[in-house]
Formats: sequence, C-alpha cells, structure tokens
Amino acid sequence: MIPLRRPTADDDLLRRCAERTEQIRKLGATSKAAQSQWSAAADEKSGIRALLFRMAPGVGRCMYCLNSAGTDIEHFEPKSRRPLRTFCWHNHLLACSHCNSNYKRTEYPCDDFGQCLLIDPSVDDPFDHLELLPATGKFKAKTRKGDETLRVFGLNDRFDLVSGRVDAYVKCRDVLIAWYRYMVGGDFGEAELRVHALHREPFADVLRAIEDMARLPYASLALGSELATALEAWLATARGTVPEGRLLANVPTARPEASAVLPSPMDG
Ligand SMILES: [Zn+2]
Repeated sequence: MIPLRRPTADDDLLRRCAERTEQIRKLGATSKAAQSQWSAAADEKSGIRALLFRMAPGVGRCMYCLNSAGTDIEHFEPKSRRPLRTFCWHNHLLACSHCNSNYKRTEYPCDDFGQCLLIDPSVDDPFDHLELLPATGKFKAKTRKGDETLRVFGLNDRFDLVSGRVDAYVKCRDVLIAWYRYMVGGDFGEAELRVHALHREPFADVLRAIEDMARLPYASLALGSELATALEAWLATARGTVPEGRLLANVPTARPEASAVLPSPMDG
C-alpha cells in the first residue's frame, strides 16, 4: 500500500449519493436497504468508479495489494456494519476482486475505543504502520494496525504478492539505474520512458520503500553506490519529472566512485 490523495467529488455526485442515503434511512437503515440501493445505483457507481480510477496507483491498481487491476468499489467500512455509509465517498476504495471477496470481505477489526485497525490508504500513510523489506518481498508490522492489515489482506502470505515484490525490486533497481544513465547521457526521451515505466509499475510500495532507503545515512551501503546515486538524482528531480530541456541541470553530480561505473548510454 501507498498513501493516496482522494479527489473532491463533484456536487452533483454528492447530491445523488445523499439522496440514496436518505432512501436507506427511510427504509430503516438496514443492511438489506443499503444493498438494494447500492444495486440500483448504476449512475452513482459509475461516477464513484471514475473518481477512484483517478486516485488509484499506476494504471488503476488495487489500493490494497497494488498488484492486480482494481475492479470493485470496496466499502472500507462494510455496508452491513454501517448501512448509512454505503454512499459516503470517503468510505470508497478501489480493490481487486481477490482482495475484496477473499480477504477483506466484511472484516473491520477495531480496538477497545472503536477505532478501526485497518490501514485506510486514503487517510493513513501505510509506511507509518508497515515496513517493506523489498529484497524479501515481505512487510514487517510497526503497529497493531499494521499487524491487523497484514493479517486481513494476507499481504505476507500470498505467493503472487511476495514474489511479485521481489521481482518489482529487481526491476525498479535496473530501471532507476538505466534512467540515471540516460539522464547523464542527455537522452531524455529514453529517460522519460523509464519514468513512466516506474510510475506505472505494479507494487508502487516497492519503489516507495527503495526511495525511503535512499534517505538513510547508510544508503550507499544498503543499496550499492550505483543505485544510491541514481536514487539521489531521482528524488532531487521530483521522482524523475523535471521540465523538458532543463533535465541535466537538475541532476546532481554523480559521486566519484559511482561515475566510474556509470558510462553514458551514448558510449555504448
Ligand atoms: Zn488486491
């Protein structure tokens, strides 16, 4: 998971959602009423889905596993638990059907004070609760919320996710280093292709974990000087995105030990 910024819903969508909520209230605010209103709300769901795709990472990825395509509008607080939040825009996330139907389902664990113990990526920074060790593909919980999130979504138990993160780590490393070489060599077109590849990569949390490691004082030791230098440039250029024509001026000079192993792609 990575933190997500929720866009503002337009007034028309909010008005229609409020009318649906009013209907649920009139029908007794039951789970059955919520389900019937939700099933009938094709237009509202289409508007909600469009907004969720805008806030989803990569190309409409599931906001929980970040691997599969997000297909379902997921109610963070289940409809059955709080029928009147069925049409609340702040209760909607985009999930793949596997996360939604096989893992999250109607889970909503809470502490003794009624506070939810699952990470909501539109509210929380998941990295406050989880540490991702990219080389192993596994998370370590930092808080109880992190623990419960790992348990409910099986984030460390699903082979496709764990092995996918390891693969993503290898790909991110290689692409970041290639990006840096193209930047230094002045081939901004090729560099730009790698920026897009990194931003669309599934497992956006792997890239975020690598970026966080680059900020550590021992980054060169942990990542190797070649990757650490590339990451320093990546972060200094707002994750690879800089105005056209001024790219090179924004790239920090490579460290002496790194420049020796970073030939320009023009040199072959
Ligand atoms: Zn998923």
